[in-house]
Formats: sequence, C-alpha cells, structure tokens
Amino acid sequence: MLTGVRVLFIGGDARQIEVIRKFSEKDALVSIVGFDGLTDQLEDIARERLSIELLEQTDVLVLPVMGCDNEGKIMTLFSSEPLQLLEEHFAVLPHECTVYTGIAKPYLSNMCFERKIHLVELLERDDVAIYNSIPTAEGAIMMAIQHTDFTIHGSNCMVLGMGRTGFTMAKSLQGLGAKVSMGVRSEVHFARASEMGWEPFLIRDLGRKIVDVNLLFNTIPTMIVTAQILSQMPTNAVIIDLASAPGGCDFRFAEKRGIKALLAPGLPGIVAPKTAGIIIANALVQLISDEIKIRGDEK
Ligand code: NAP
Repeated sequence: MLTGVRVLFIGGDARQIEVIRKFSEKDALVSIVGFDGLTDQLEDIARERLSIELLEQTDVLVLPVMGCDNEGKIMTLFSSEPLQLLEEHFAVLPHECTVYTGIAKPYLSNMCFERKIHLVELLERDDVAIYNSIPTAEGAIMMAIQHTDFTIHGSNCMVLGMGRTGFTMAKSLQGLGAKVSMGVRSEVHFARASEMGWEPFLIRDLGRKIVDVNLLFNTIPTMIVTAQILSQMPTNAVIIDLASAPGGCDFRFAEKRGIKALLAPGLPGIVAPKTAGIIIANALVQLISDEIKIRGDEK
C-alpha cells in the first residue's frame, strides 16, 4: 500500500488515467493537475492548479510518458490550459521527492540533476520496455494490415534490430505465419534468431537481403534504411519505422521512389492506452514500494 504518500500527476494522456486509478486504489494521497476537461472519470480525486504550495508537498511527481519539452511544457490531453514546469517549480520540490517519466528530454534531466532530484525514466527499464513491446507490435501489425492489400501470412517480413521491440515484433509476425527475416549486428543475436526459426542476416548485408521484402519493420534508432538500401527494395513494399523520431529511414527518398514508409511513434498509447497505462502503473507502484521499504530499513 502507498498510504500517506503524496503523489502529484501533471498532465498526460489516457494512459495516465490508469496510473492515477492504481495509485488511488493503493491509498496514496493523489493530486492531479491538467485533467480539468475530464468530466466522467476520476471524480473522487483532487484536481488542482499547478502551484508552488502543491509542489512543496510532493513525495512523488509523475509526468507523462514523454515528460516535458525543452521549455518545460507538458502535454495534456484533458485540459486546454497550458502547463509548464519552470525552474522555480523544480526549486521547491522536496529533496526526497522522486520524479518519474517515460523518457526525459535534456531540460528535465538537467533541472533534476542540478537540484539533485532523483529522476527515473521508466522506458529505460528492460521490464517496462519488454511489456511495452507487446502493444507496440500489435500496433505495427494493425498499421501493416491497414496499408497493404495482402496478408501478413505468407509474406516476406523483415525486422531490423533484435532488441526488446524487434524480438516481440518478429515473434508476433511469425505467429501470423509470415516468413520472418531478422537483421542483427551480433553473432549472439544471429544465433538466437536462427533458433527462433527466423532467417537471420547481418545488417551489413541488408542491401542484398531487402530485394524481395514485402513488409519492413525497423526498430534500429539510427539511419539504417538509407537511399542506397531503398533503391534495392521493391516499390510495392511497405516500411513501418518504429524507431524513435526521426526514425531510421530516409523518408524523402522513399517517397521519391514511391515506397510507402510510415514513422509510427507512440503506438502503445494509441492502440492500447489502458494496457500501456497498466504497464506503467505496475512498474511505478513496484518502484515506489521498494523505495519506501529501503528507506524504512535504513531508519
Ligand atoms: P533496444 O532494446 O535497445 O533495441 C534496439 C536494437 O537496435 C538493439 O538490438 C541494437 O543492437 C540494435 N541497433 C542499434 N544500433 C544499431 C546499428 N547501428 N546497427 C545495427 N543494429 C543496431 O531498443 P527497443 O526498446 O527495442 O526500442 C527500439 C526503438 O523503438 C527505440 O528507438 C524506441 O524508442 C522505439 N520504440 C518505439 C515504439 C513505438 O511505439 N513506435 C515503442 C517502443 C519503442 P545491439 O543489441 O547489438 O546493441
């Protein structure tokens, strides 16, 4: 239980509703800012305005998955009022306060670092990234279906990168009966891909391997599907780029060649906000409970 822990949520999307609910169930003292447009949910939770007094009394500050931008502006889907975390706000957070977000931009990292505030980036954690890969793969499959006139079953599907997202992506495509090839750079991943029944290849051979691809799913967050690679790809193939913006594909050249290439950010929050919220909520509750226990043991 999180009885007595003062948790402040500022902004977010539908995922955050699940997280707020979970903290309320755990008996935390929850305050929410930037949810005034939400009419039929979270009625029993205190809606506040961003203020120095509120921040001074915060044990845990939960920001949206994307944190804030490099001016401190926070995205919120449920309010038209702008939200911005300024220096003066960070300055009054108690020293023991922990700030949680999905991914932190330099502004947030620097603000926390300079004031010795503990910042946790949830999407950096393997467990959260692996759970998150499930709605990501489902979302990518949804997009593939929407943008093709053939079945995934029997098609040549290529996945680039066998990390947390790429692995789940390949396994999901395999489950649908696709012929899966996997682009990797390490011998270990090569061996594992082979064991999984995928056709492994080294990324340096991408140009040769791409000639008969129907669907390409990229998870490598660097420019990998270059103009040279695209020039060898069938023009009726579809690329779904899952890597974080700006992605790993030369979109300009893809368009020039008539290849459909789609950058697909934030799929968990789009296709499965409830599941994505529960993933974040479970990780957060676990982390905060562990922290409370450690502090209790230290006393
Ligand atoms: P990850 O576990 O770190 O996997 C990335 C993979 O890319 C690793 O296997 C890595 O290989 C490989 N890689 C990196 N640079 C490479 C290079 N130059 N050549 C060949 N391989 C390279 O990351 P992840 O959690 O799967 O996430 C992958 C990307 O998807 C990130 O950009 C993440 O932000 C994004 N993402 C997007 C969504 C969405 O909704 N679109 C959802 C989740 C994640 P090694 O293992 O050999 O280092």
